[in-house]
Amino acid sequence: MLEIRNVHKAFGKNEILKGVDLKIEKGDVVVILGPSGSGKTTLLRCINFLEKADQGQATFGDTEVNLKAASKKQIHGIRQKIAFVFQNYNLFNNKTALENVTEGLIVGRKVPKKEANEMGKAALDKVGLSKKYNAYPSQLSGGQQQRVGIARAVALNPDIILFDEPTSSLDPELVGEVLTVMKDIAKEGTTMLVVTHEMSFAKDVANKVIFMDGGVIVEEGTPKEIFTNPKEERTQQFLKRVL
Ligand code: ATP
Repeated sequence: MLEIRNVHKAFGKNEILKGVDLKIEKGDVVVILGPSGSGKTTLLRCINFLEKADQGQATFGDTEVNLKAASKKQIHGIRQKIAFVFQNYNLFNNKTALENVTEGLIVGRKVPKKEANEMGKAALDKVGLSKKYNAYPSQLSGGQQQRVGIARAVALNPDIILFDEPTSSLDPELVGEVLTVMKDIAKEGTTMLVVTHEMSFAKDVANKVIFMDGGVIVEEGTPKEIFTNPKEERTQQFLKRVL
């Protein structure tokens, strides 16, 4: 479904990604763990062309692209298949929850407004916000705003959803509601690539855990392999600190 090979990215002289390979199958829930600054967010952003990689190849379904030299048309095509959930929600403050969810459908996908509204309402219902269609972001809690962000991704019916630390901006008491929604959509078979510091999500929901450090993938395996029997010293040290 998605394979990336040899992804490199530097900011100035600071080399952040040093040759990352990743393979995701349909229905996978892959969690990327790693210390702050290890390049997790940069990797997600390169996959979705929010950052341009310096080097790297990707296969999205049957489409092969060069991450550095993809054409506008290729990028547009791939963005039709991938949705992104941001750490800071990235909602339009002057649009209602429903308008935030339908914007991408109407503008990006050319779905007629009436149909987009039905799809948007269904997505908001799915994340438990059926009473908040007309609320503006300022009238919603952080957890509710992030659930709008997730509804916006789900409504696009993408092949894969990338989550970039979706609970990191939330007060601790609001983290659970967002993780519950993510768990629900994972159960439905949604393919997900999740950068998170939430170890419980990695343990309970992921079928594959990747540990990144210093711009490379140090180790990957099932949650059981990574959490109970990590092979690499760096993984062991990291888990000792966070568990
Ligand atoms: P965290 O868990 O703290 O979010 P991360 O593993 O997701 O960390 P990244 O956000 O990918 O790490 O950042 C890796 C490094 O790249 C950091 O040192 C960061 O300062 C740097 N970096 C990220 N984006 C940029 C940018 N646009 N310009 C310059 N440096 C950047």
